[in-house]
Amino acid sequence: MISGEKSRRTEFALIDWIEHQVGSSDLLSLGIGDDCAIQPQRPGEDLLTSTDLLIEGIHFKREWTDFFSLGAKSAAVNLSDIAAMGGRAQCVFLGLARPSALDDSDIEELIRGFVAETARYGVVLAGGDTCASPGPLMISVTVQGAVLSGTAIRRDGARPGEWLYVSGTLGDSALALRALQAGEVVRPALAQRFNRPTARIELGRYLAENRLATAMLDISDGLLGDLGHILEASAVGAEILLQQLPLSSDFTEALHDDEGMIDLALSGGEDYELLFTSAREDLEQLAGLPVAVTKIGRMTAERRLQIVAGDGSLYQCRQGGFDHFA
Ligand code: ADP
Ligand code: MG
Repeated sequence: MISGEKSRRTEFALIDWIEHQVGSSDLLSLGIGDDCAIQPQRPGEDLLTSTDLLIEGIHFKREWTDFFSLGAKSAAVNLSDIAAMGGRAQCVFLGLARPSALDDSDIEELIRGFVAETARYGVVLAGGDTCASPGPLMISVTVQGAVLSGTAIRRDGARPGEWLYVSGTLGDSALALRALQAGEVVRPALAQRFNRPTARIELGRYLAENRLATAMLDISDGLLGDLGHILEASAVGAEILLQQLPLSSDFTEALHDDEGMIDLALSGGEDYELLFTSAREDLEQLAGLPVAVTKIGRMTAERRLQIVAGDGSLYQCRQGGFDHFA
């Protein structure tokens, strides 16, 4: 890129510093430092690629997080897209638009968090771009991964009669966000779920390698909204059992104070859990599962989404999923 002479110097110094944070990896024959990274490809594999943009003021606020967590979360939300396809994450690329007011130490913390999170999965930072921002901090992350040819789990494979599963617990991140927005104290476990989500890479791979899921995605915009994508792509409907939704103990306590909170588990964003369909009814019991999964419903031929309450009545969620353009 071309930027002003002054920031260009700091840009080179920063890139140099970033390069030193990245260990060597046999995934790359050439990493940071040239015009492109070079990745040798294995035969019989499909390449997966996904990009996310995180803009200050829209996706994050600096007062709600620390820079290390922000970097780690930027990596996790992007790796989650590879998890959602059942892939192995391999390389990431990091674009940074940096406000001049930001200290070097802040940007270094962000990159430390980013690199630490990717390293957990053996993922290597293979390149990126760095420039100045006249406004907000912007973070663009691109991840590449691989699956055996033809085994990626897409959104369009669900069939009527199959079972619907979700990993982990729902609504914790949305509950944390609500508290932050209200200026309340956030319980540590909930704050952790909001600031440091986990990409379910191992679970995604396990499901793909054992051919256990027919359709899958990661929940970023809320269970109902994201399930809608599977229903649309697969041309099926679904019935969800409200009482089966997996909830954390913190979330269940919040529910005691306000029953309406259940809508946060149905439609709150940023869970980054995997939502998938399977022909197997007993998936929860499989011994090799890397994360607990819960059966929350069933796919139907009738193309509608129904939520069934404990007494058998239909439940109406009062909130839609998160929509950036709404
Ligand atoms: P170019 O002018 O070709 O865009 P740059 O000077 O922007 O090259 O980048 C030099 C090298 O540093 C490239 O390998 C690029 O991928 C890498 N790089 C730049 N910014 C980042 C970053 N934020 N994270 C990781 N690598 C980066
Ligand atoms: Mg560049």
